[in-house]
Amino acid sequence: MMANKNQQPNKVRQLERIVEISRVLSSTHDLTRLLQAVVDVACELTHSEATSIMLFDPASGELRFEAAPDFQRNSLKSISVPLESSVAGWIFTHARPMVIQDASSDPRVYREVDKTLQSQTNSLLGVPLMVKQKPIGVIEAINKMDNGQYTEDDLAVLETLAGQAAIAIENARLVRKLQDANAELMRLDRMKSDFIAIASHELRTPLGLILGHSTFLKETVSDTHTEQLDVIIRSAMRLKEIIEDMATIAHEEKGQSRVRKDQFSIKEMITNVAKNFQDVAKRKGIKLETDTPPDDPLNIFGDSEKIAVVLSNLIENALTFTDEGGQVGVKAEKDEGYVKVLVVDTGIGIPADEQERIFDRFYQVESHLTRRHGGMGLGLSIAKAMVEMHNGQIWCESKEGMGSLFCFMLPMDEEKASAAAKVFKTD
Ligand code: ADP
Repeated sequence: MMANKNQQPNKVRQLERIVEISRVLSSTHDLTRLLQAVVDVACELTHSEATSIMLFDPASGELRFEAAPDFQRNSLKSISVPLESSVAGWIFTHARPMVIQDASSDPRVYREVDKTLQSQTNSLLGVPLMVKQKPIGVIEAINKMDNGQYTEDDLAVLETLAGQAAIAIENARLVRKLQDANAELMRLDRMKSDFIAIASHELRTPLGLILGHSTFLKETVSDTHTEQLDVIIRSAMRLKEIIEDMATIAHEEKGQSRVRKDQFSIKEMITNVAKNFQDVAKRKGIKLETDTPPDDPLNIFGDSEKIAVVLSNLIENALTFTDEGGQVGVKAEKDEGYVKVLVVDTGIGIPADEQERIFDRFYQVESHLTRRHGGMGLGLSIAKAMVEMHNGQIWCESKEGMGSLFCFMLPMDEEKASAAAKVFKTD
C-alpha cells in the first residue's frame, strides 16, 4: 500500500487550506477561478509537481483538461485523454481512485500528455469527481516531490478537494442551465408579445371594414337578410372584443397604457354593468343581484372605462362558470379610504393551487382544448393590470365546487392612491 511519510503536511495547515477553498466555493460563481484554486491547493498539500482536473466531454467521449498549473495550462487545452488507454480514463470509468508509485514505465499511463508537456510522469495519484454517485471527471496529482511516495493522507486530501470541485462544477452547470432556460423563456415571451401586438394591429382594419359594411347593409337591404346580418355583426363584435383585449395587453406590456382619471360613482357603474348582463343571466337561469349602500354613490377618482372593464370581466366570468339555477352577487362598500367591490358566485369554484395563476396571461384552469367555455385567458390579467394602474388590489377566494369570490379595492382619491402606491409597490 501507500507509504506514510513523516513529511506529510501539518494537519492544521491542511485543514486551513481546505476551508479556504470552501470559502471561495461559496463566494464565487467563477468556475475557472475556483477549479484553479482547487488544483493549486491540491498541488501544495499533496507535495506534487502538478495537479490537474479533467472533465468528461460527452460529445467526444474523452476527458478534457479543465484546470492545470499555470505553466501547463495552454499546452493542455488542446489535448484530450481517451478513456480506454489512460489512468484517468480507468479512474473515471471505474469511479475509483488509483495510485501508481512508480509510473515511469507503466504502460497504463497515457504518454501523449508527457510528450506535449515535454515531461515525464514518475508517480501519480488520481481520484474521480463524483456528482450524485456518478463520475463527471478526474483530479490527478503527478510526481510526488523528492521522489517520495503518495500517502493515505494525500488520497484523503485529494478526495476532499475532488468533492469540492464536483460541487462547484455541478452548481455552475445548474446556474448555466437556469440561465439558458431563462433566456429561452424571455425569447418566447418576446415572441408572444410581438405576436399579440402585430395580430391585434393587423386584425383591426379588416374587422372595422366588416363591421362598417355589414352595419351599412343592414340599414339598406330588405328585411329578408336582417337575421344573417345580425349574426355577422354579433360575431364581428365578439372578435372586436378579443382584439381589444389583445391590444390592451400589448399596450400594457409596452407601458403605453394611459389612465384618464375623473370622479365617478362606482355604485352607478355597478347598476349599469349588471343591467347589461341581465339578459345573459336570465338565459342561463342565474339570479344576478347587486348590493350597494342606499345613500352613498361610492365616488372614486379613477379611469371609469378601465374600471368598467374590470367589473365586466368579473361578472362575465361569474356567469360563465356558474350553472343554471346558481347565483351571482355584486356588492360594493367603503373600506377605510377604499371602495371594495365583491363579485360572488355559486359556480364551479377554483382549486386552491390555481388561484394565483388565474391572473396570469392566457392562463385557464381547464385546458383550452377540453374546456366548454370560450375565452382566451386574458380577462383576469387585464382586470389585474387595470386595478394595479389605480394602485389598487385584486384577489380571489374560492373552494372547488363551492363558488368563488373576486374582490378588488380601489383608493377613493389621489391622496389615498399615492399612499397605496407606496404600500403595494406594483410593477
Ligand atoms: P377567460 O376569459 O379565458 O375565462 P380569464 O382570465 O377571465 O380568462 O380567467 C382565467 C381562468 O380563471 C378561467 O379560464 C377560469 O378557469 C378561471 N376563472 C375565472 N373566473 C372564475 C370564476 N368566477 N369561477 C371559476 N373559475 C373562474
